[in-house]
Amino acid sequence: MTTALSQEQTEIQSAVRQVCSRFPDEYWRHVDGSGAYPDEFVSALTEAGWLSVLIPQEFGGGGLGVTEAAIVMEEINRAGANSAACHAQMYTMGTLLRHGSEEQKRRYLPEIAAGRLRLQAFAVTEPDAGSDTTRLRTTAVRRGDCYVVNGQKVFTSRVGQSDLMLLLARTTPIKSVTERTAGFSVFLVDLRDAEGLDARPMAMMVNHHVYEVFFNDVKIPIRNLVGEEGKGFRYIIDGWNVERILVASEAIGDGHWFVQRAVKYSSGREIFGRKLAENQGVAFPIAQAYAQVEAASLIRFEAASRFDRQQPCGAEANMAKLLASQASWAAANACLTAHGGYGFAREYDVERKFRETKLLEIAPVSNNLVLAYLAQHVLGMPRSY
Ligand SMILES: Cc1cc2nc3c(=O)[nH]c(=O)nc-3n(C[C@H](O)[C@H](O)[C@H](O)COP(=O)(O)OP(=O)(O)OC[C@H]3O[C@@H](n4cnc5c(N)ncnc54)[C@H](O)[C@@H]3O)c2cc1C
Repeated sequence: MTTALSQEQTEIQSAVRQVCSRFPDEYWRHVDGSGAYPDEFVSALTEAGWLSVLIPQEFGGGGLGVTEAAIVMEEINRAGANSAACHAQMYTMGTLLRHGSEEQKRRYLPEIAAGRLRLQAFAVTEPDAGSDTTRLRTTAVRRGDCYVVNGQKVFTSRVGQSDLMLLLARTTPIKSVTERTAGFSVFLVDLRDAEGLDARPMAMMVNHHVYEVFFNDVKIPIRNLVGEEGKGFRYIIDGWNVERILVASEAIGDGHWFVQRAVKYSSGREIFGRKLAENQGVAFPIAQAYAQVEAASLIRFEAASRFDRQQPCGAEANMAKLLASQASWAAANACLTAHGGYGFAREYDVERKFRETKLLEIAPVSNNLVLAYLAQHVLGMPRSY
């Protein structure tokens, strides 16, 4: 690690590592193979307090910054685990903390921090609105003391494993708004009693518990509107920097895992009478990927530190997401190639991580959209979409 961590941060790192060590490769191989949700792992992290680091102490959380959350995410993935099972609580926390009412925070945050409620679902993407989020068609119409939701989401992760879901829906018809980002609102949906909500699992190449969600006159009490009606898109955008920093951290964790495995395997196996790693064709891609992972880590910490100091961090957060997901993919390829045919064998876990890390280039935001941000907002080039 090239960035100097404080003593407290180093302690967080080793404490998370300790929890993860209770869930060895066999555990992850089993949940992946059976398509199971890693319930025990998520509970262990919750009990140890690592999923609520961003929740303020007055609500029972750790009251720490995004830098510490980034360390938690990195360590999980570096240990061979998959933080995709539980990252949404971290991704969504900013929206609730910054824009939720005092009453919402008192009602939900202590329960989330204590692990009695899971907020692990975040419904934005729709069949006709992926990267182009402003095209969302799901509507929420005010009727008396409720909003009535109709529409469809897709790729909504962990609906079946969560108690609460953050939902972005249109509250003002598109023809009545002047800006395409206006007229959206954010809701906290209580999945335990959401009548008219139909969640259907989607079969995926990763063990990710993804659903299509159909809303048929689903009633949400007005007290579950987050912030002001019509400003929801802004609230979601506000959370994007943290999301990118945390995704980058997951990729950096994966990258280190691949590098470690590649080094170990190629330094142990003998072919043509010498270690695999004695061939530069094997060693150099691993060393190259390591350098990329470390460089991405630095810019990730810079982004996190800027966020925690309340300085603008859009450029750094986006660059971190881009570079970390590319670095991890480079490490994944170097690792799988170094393993030869064994890279494809499930018992080596490389193929599982390989599938998992590819996702980070595409979701929660694709790298093309990250490049579009850098081109337009950082370099001042014309908008491309
Ligand atoms: C496993 C998994 C879990 C997910 N979990 C969630 C979740 O919990 N909640 C949620 O809301 N969503 C979730 N998603 C959805 C994810 O955020 C989207 O898949 C992602 O934002 C891309 O949208 P899309 O799939 O519709 O691709 P599209 O928008 O159709 O894009 C397809 C490809 O074209 C490229 N592209 C599109 N427009 C442009 C452009 N203007 N310039 C250059 N390239 C472009 C994109 O980069 C992409 O590679 C998940 C997806 C997956 C696979």
